[in-house]
Amino acid sequence: MKLHLGSLVLAVGLAGCANNPMTGRSQLILLSESQVIAESAQAYRQELAPWSKQGKIDNDHALKARIDEITSRLIAQAIRYRPDTAQWAWQVAVIDDPKTLNAFCLPGGRMAIYSGLTEKLHASDDELAQVMGHEIAHALANHGAEKMSIGLAANVLTGLIGVASGDNGRRNQQVGELAALLAWQLPNSREAETEADKIGIELAARAGYDPKAAPALWQKMLAAEGGGRFDWLSTHPASEKRMAYLAALAPQMAPLYLEATRHPPIRFALADAESKATGKPVPETAPARFDRFKRGELFLDCTQCGPKFDAHAAQLAQLYRTRDWQALATLVGEIGHPRDIAWYYLGVAAEGLGWPAAARHYYELAVQLAQNPDSACHTPAGDQCGGVQLPEQALARLAKLRQR
Ligand SMILES: [Zn+2]
Repeated sequence: MKLHLGSLVLAVGLAGCANNPMTGRSQLILLSESQVIAESAQAYRQELAPWSKQGKIDNDHALKARIDEITSRLIAQAIRYRPDTAQWAWQVAVIDDPKTLNAFCLPGGRMAIYSGLTEKLHASDDELAQVMGHEIAHALANHGAEKMSIGLAANVLTGLIGVASGDNGRRNQQVGELAALLAWQLPNSREAETEADKIGIELAARAGYDPKAAPALWQKMLAAEGGGRFDWLSTHPASEKRMAYLAALAPQMAPLYLEATRHPPIRFALADAESKATGKPVPETAPARFDRFKRGELFLDCTQCGPKFDAHAAQLAQLYRTRDWQALATLVGEIGHPRDIAWYYLGVAAEGLGWPAAARHYYELAVQLAQNPDSACHTPAGDQCGGVQLPEQALARLAKLRQR
């Protein structure tokens, strides 16, 4: 782990507060999110290594399958909140440690859950979804950068004191590195906790998990004996206020939950992200990709395919005009470039082929990406939208689908 105190001292001078990407709350952010993700990848490997040596990662196949199902549904919703997180190295490890009631999601989407949550707490899927949803919410709201920044600000100060007193600063630098490594094990601020409670229960509801499980989970946590390593209760105090807040949120989230249970769940393909993280691509056949498309689970994340997309723009527009939905979806999936018009094409194709749940998902992504100049087809340089008005047409189709 490399952290340079010199550049951090500079950062303290230059950076300051940033607005939270999810909530607008002002945060002390001294590190960019990409720096924090890189540091977290290292911390993740270090945390898992000893468990891996003992053969205690993912050794319970039934539990691993359960956790994969829950997290892949939560991630699909997380990406709807923040489409840029489709690029994250989403993955989840199940650690065989029945004593510990804990779980985490680091910035960048690397997650772990300890088997104590199921063995000691007998947590249901709805309850596990609350824990993981809460942890994913911390990552989406960039709380890791906030925690690490507070830790580093403190360490920069001790580093400066060390330099002034003739110390070569090496010891303090080591302390700084350690602080970054451990930052994710420290509690978040109360404001960050409240944000994660709110975003987490909503992610879980949208993924089809009962919001009533949130207050129920806390009751179970309280009733269970703690004492394992980094137990959740040690970083997540179960105050009366928190319980009341979650109990009040649950009925507000109920309509989202009911709506989600009326459609087949949308899942993120965890294996794709894992192969991306390890650099070992798993080739996907066109029929398999089409199958994911109709389930609403297709992910476009090719970052270098802009020129390829532009080269095919006329052909895509032609398939759209001739309503050749199968060919349109296949070509968009093959190119894989996440632009608003690409998601819109997938939406009309899914709708035309009779998969409205998938269509809604793709239209929603089109609307989101239209707001971002990097992913909008209307650019100052020109128009690659094939005559489609975005986000207006996607919004109109969404409204129609919702009326059905
Ligand atoms: Zn938390």
